[in-house]
Amino acid sequence: MPRVRQNIITNEWVVVAPERNHQPAHHAEKMFSSEMKHIYPCVFCHGQAAWHQRYTSLDTKDIYVIPNTYPAFQDKDELEAVGHGFYNDSHSYGDHEVIVLKDPRDKLNTLKPAKLYELLKVMQGRLQYHQKETEHRFFIPIYNHGRDSGASMAHPHAQFFGSDVMSPRLERELEVTKNYYDDKKECVFCQMIKFEQDEQTRVIYHSEEAIAFTAFAPRYPFEIWVMPAHHNMSFAEATEKSLEGVAKAMHRVFEQLDQKLSNPSLNWFIHTTRSIDKPYDESFHWHIEITPRLGKQGGFELGSDTTIQIILPEAAAKLLR
Ligand SMILES: [Zn+2]
Ligand SMILES: [Zn+2]
Ligand SMILES: [Zn+2]
Repeated sequence: MPRVRQNIITNEWVVVAPERNHQPAHHAEKMFSSEMKHIYPCVFCHGQAAWHQRYTSLDTKDIYVIPNTYPAFQDKDELEAVGHGFYNDSHSYGDHEVIVLKDPRDKLNTLKPAKLYELLKVMQGRLQYHQKETEHRFFIPIYNHGRDSGASMAHPHAQFFGSDVMSPRLERELEVTKNYYDDKKECVFCQMIKFEQDEQTRVIYHSEEAIAFTAFAPRYPFEIWVMPAHHNMSFAEATEKSLEGVAKAMHRVFEQLDQKLSNPSLNWFIHTTRSIDKPYDESFHWHIEITPRLGKQGGFELGSDTTIQIILPEAAAKLLR
């Protein structure tokens, strides 16, 4: 029988209908390889165009940071006033940077925990910088991996976005989880971690510092959430120990996805508050959402903003353990 499950962080419902998956091993057996061909000359490679524009003071052993050449958001002084009568049409104020892995042979699916940690540290540094130097409300570090992820360049890289426009998705998470806290005086994420550890059926990996599990009510098949085990609302405030633990959890997840689903295309992104968002201090808990891109959404999904999942999250976790 199909069921509906609620995402406790957003209050959204999803339909879970495993009977619609006519071949039981459907996803496991398909080849999802997301390989993209690294083409030379590559603008991100050492010595090329991007390399010369990099913020040299931000260089780490394996990573450099550049402003995006074709940004989605820009600094205020670079923009002219616009208007559109009846419609709202405004400046796109914000930040858009590219965080490039220096070695073109690096691949997310086989990246070592130490390099994932280095990447998280650079992302955290950009958040710390931009939340201090700008008034932007919304920040999101992201990584696109593979052909179907929206990545336009094969050279491995992450991106950092900041914007004056608040994300409705994050705003919703903040509101719903704040309501939960006001009602129960507990962080819903901390409660979720306890419940997942007790139940075990969706857990892929856990340690003292971090947990990775398939989402109870996912938007994407094999959607995985990675959370620091200790309460902390902002990624900007995460300790080195916590980030090391999260990097190990991510490594395990990417390794399993690589081996069991033949390296699928995926996106991952960090949901966090700014350090100054004190109203959410107790109620929000920063986390990473990993969304493999295994299928395409249909009219029902797009029209209703509700997804139908044919892979049970429990079956997905079992495969990935
Ligand atoms: Zn390259
Ligand atoms: Zn918490
Ligand atoms: Zn989230």
